[in-house]
Amino acid sequence: MVQAARWLGLSPDHVFGLAALPYGSYTAAHHAEEYRVGVAIGDRVLDLTSATGRLMPARAHLFAAGGLDDFLAAGDLAWAQVRESLTAWLSEDQFRPAIEDLLVPAAAVSLRLPFAVADYVDFYASENHAANGGRMFRPGAEPLPPNWKHLPIGYHGRAGSVVVSGTPVRRPCGQSRPPGADAPVFGPSTRLDFEAELGFVVGARSHRGEPVPVSRFPEHVFGVCLVNDWSARDIQFWETVPLGPFLGKSFATTVSPWVLPLAALQHARIRPPSAAASLLGYLTETAAWGLDIDFEIRLNGAVISRPPYATMYWSPAQMLAHLTVNGAAVRPGDLYASGTVSGPEPSQRGSLMELSWNGTEPLGLPDGTSRTWLQDGDEVTISATAPGADGVRIGLGSATGVILPAVMESPAGRD
Ligand code: CA
Repeated sequence: MVQAARWLGLSPDHVFGLAALPYGSYTAAHHAEEYRVGVAIGDRVLDLTSATGRLMPARAHLFAAGGLDDFLAAGDLAWAQVRESLTAWLSEDQFRPAIEDLLVPAAAVSLRLPFAVADYVDFYASENHAANGGRMFRPGAEPLPPNWKHLPIGYHGRAGSVVVSGTPVRRPCGQSRPPGADAPVFGPSTRLDFEAELGFVVGARSHRGEPVPVSRFPEHVFGVCLVNDWSARDIQFWETVPLGPFLGKSFATTVSPWVLPLAALQHARIRPPSAAASLLGYLTETAAWGLDIDFEIRLNGAVISRPPYATMYWSPAQMLAHLTVNGAAVRPGDLYASGTVSGPEPSQRGSLMELSWNGTEPLGLPDGTSRTWLQDGDEVTISATAPGADGVRIGLGSATGVILPAVMESPAGRD
């Protein structure tokens, strides 16, 4: 395995070591707040916009705008060449004079939404999460819907509500019907929740009318980020039958600022549980694109769950094949999320709804308080790591958000 250059002073167990190299977009005071593309290395950020200008002029235009959009669209050859070059620059002493002044302390930059989110789809790929929902809301019935093991269920979400980690989340107002009530009421959500998910970032476009087979997943998907699909359960449950999630989900979706390329996840690949199933041809996968990623969820700093992504039934290659099988095209900046990651154990559940069993089993916190749903001021942080080469761990960073109190507004408008 190639080692980071010694002059970088990088700890060998840093999760942003040479094996990770995630991409983001930032501003910094010393660049007069211009947008830059950065690559995380240890506790620093390499200014890739400037570095490619010096060392890789043929690719520099991909980073000139300061976001990942042009790089995503450039396709897998460009992705591989840039990663190979980055690895050389950060491992070979000869490049030190060219890049040393382009390394900025991570604490000195403001990370932005790394790409313009085009379409956003959210799947439902965890068997444990889907079955927990069935047990809570359809007791006595089969926990999984009849289609669940035949296709990755999903819905189209709201791309314009995707925000970068650190953006506060305002408690939404909406319509819901309290338990036992005959009529709905309007007001701030009283059942606010999080969902810990993995997001897949599409780079190269596909063409309308041409489904993307499972085998071509790595040509189209550039990398992964962490996703918090904030959910107002009271609004969601009143509105969701028969057409699915709408306003209970669309007020905010938080993503991590770093996009970790698929190339960094080669050592995390496993066969997903669906590999043992008999599926329709377009969902049958021979390459293993299940991912062994360990999630951690913190509420106000305390770890409340450790969901294992390895248990996810459907792979992201199957999700992409299903998303496009009707001829729908994907384009650069499309984001699709896995659905809540929940493992089989109670300590591995990826939402407060499951951790508190729909509010019936309050979750105790180390500060002596307990939660059934999120309170104003609560901070939720999702982080994750995965195996890299030679036993190292690589990081996906984190996605965090604080709940702000609702601003009450009547449905009739301001007056
Ligand atoms: Ca979700």
